[in-house]
Amino acid sequence: MKPRRLLVPLLVLVLATIAVAGARYRVEPANCTGCGDCERLCPVGAIQVIDGKSRIDPETCIGCGQCLGVCTHDAIR
Ligand code: SF4
Ligand code: SF4
Repeated sequence: MKPRRLLVPLLVLVLATIAVAGARYRVEPANCTGCGDCERLCPVGAIQVIDGKSRIDPETCIGCGQCLGVCTHDAIR
């Protein structure tokens, strides 16, 4: 197989990996203070603070990991 023909399956694999990784982020409600920092930062609007707790929509999340870095309460895992 020519190297160029490997590009498409490789790209599909990378995108699938990103999608699966995104679905793995979750909020630990006991640690979440509902500050909303992650909600304001999320580039795709996948986070909502409802009843004082943050929630991640796994269908919308692209797995960028920015929320993980902004949460100072270790509530996003
Ligand atoms: S940044 Fe952390 S503590 Fe603040 S709302 Fe998001 S998950 Fe909760
Ligand atoms: S990983 Fe990125 S896209 Fe997913 S909820 Fe966090 S900030 Fe939003």
